[in-house]
Amino acid sequence: MQTNFSAAQLADPHVAESEKILRKCVHCGFCTATCPTYVTLGNELDSPRGRIYLIKDMLENGRPADTEIVTHIDRCLSCLACMTTCPSGVNYMHLVDHARAHIEQTYRRPLLDRLTRAMLAFVLPYPGRFRAALKLAQLGRPLIGLLEKLPTLKPLAAMLKLAPSSTPPASPIASPGVHAGQGTKRGRVAILTGCAQSVLDPAINEAAVSLLTRLGVEVVVPEGEGCCGALVHHMGREDQALASARQNVDAWTRAIDQGGLDTIIITASGCGTTIKDYGFMLRLDPAYAEKAARVSAVAKDITEYLAALDLPEPVRKPGTIVAYHSACSMQHGQKITRQPKELLAKAGFVVREPREGHLCGSAGTYNILQPDISAKLRDRKVKNIEATGAEIVATGNIGCITQIASAAKLPVVHTIKLLDWAYGGPKPDGVSENSLGGAE
Ligand code: SF4
Ligand code: SF4
Repeated sequence: MQTNFSAAQLADPHVAESEKILRKCVHCGFCTATCPTYVTLGNELDSPRGRIYLIKDMLENGRPADTEIVTHIDRCLSCLACMTTCPSGVNYMHLVDHARAHIEQTYRRPLLDRLTRAMLAFVLPYPGRFRAALKLAQLGRPLIGLLEKLPTLKPLAAMLKLAPSSTPPASPIASPGVHAGQGTKRGRVAILTGCAQSVLDPAINEAAVSLLTRLGVEVVVPEGEGCCGALVHHMGREDQALASARQNVDAWTRAIDQGGLDTIIITASGCGTTIKDYGFMLRLDPAYAEKAARVSAVAKDITEYLAALDLPEPVRKPGTIVAYHSACSMQHGQKITRQPKELLAKAGFVVREPREGHLCGSAGTYNILQPDISAKLRDRKVKNIEATGAEIVATGNIGCITQIASAAKLPVVHTIKLLDWAYGGPKPDGVSENSLGGAE
């Protein structure tokens, strides 16, 4: 694509990066076929190609964002299906991240939208605040019907609907410390405790630590880790996202310097995509660029790490039919497609893949901020999952677990919980013995 940026515009490294990306796009439109919002809404401006044109126009003309561009960029899930499909290697992720930051700096949203976003950014990244908010949400549940009738308050209704009816207690696993590996030492890793996942389902990291330590891997929970920054990054709040990234880079760098780390393990694929991008996000910060690149280079999803270990034979032989839902951040953001399915199959599960696996509707805060599109995509996803005839749904991202579980009749669990169980760990909560069926 031809671009017309001035030399002065290109002196801004963010604009220069976006210009490089824009020049790669050849307008072929292949990406439209796999874009969930284009498939749902049928509007070219809600396709990757349409959004690329809008972003180009805004940046080239040095214009503040307007309502039209905000509408179409807000509807983008950042699922990155378009990047997987694009034959020209267009880095849509970095382009849309730049556009979102530009929107945040130049556009004044309506009051309720501003308040909703400010509240999400204030609450979600902090486990203590999020836990308190979930308790309040339980009290607010009777208001869902009323809030849903008022278009501007739909995000609040979506939030209340997604909030679980009870919150599990905080896990001791989330506290800083070292969990020794059993038997011969096979590695030393850090695990991201994160934010929302540690509140909604602390048993995910418990399963990861339990399985890793049984396999002989020492697991460190470093002092000072926190939210990866993805949730605010996708809202264009760059300063807050970069502050989170720096905090984690510092925590992991200390752990690397103190005892060495083979890997930083992540059990939420949305976080993994962002942490693997820290090197890019902090490339312009001389104090952090090198450290951030080092952190990104050793970050791995739990399934990526386990697939590279020589796993023993599983303790149980379940034979359970599992529908594997590959989160967009897993399959497109990190290009991890094979490992989770192979691990489940090796552990004795019968793995089935739902049709239209590229269509997703959860996407961080998207399910709150764009509840109508998100619900349509969720219902389509759930129909495809149920058509597999599976007894359980497995996936590697807490956002997908929460969203799919809100509509599916099947239990929805993190992949690591099924693996931990098959290799001798406890039965995942909410899954009956019947549906697991595994013989000892
Ligand atoms: S990131 Fe997803 S929703 Fe956004 S343009 Fe690409 S395919 Fe469409
Ligand atoms: S597939 Fe790639 S090159 Fe083609 S229009 Fe989409 S982003 Fe541009």
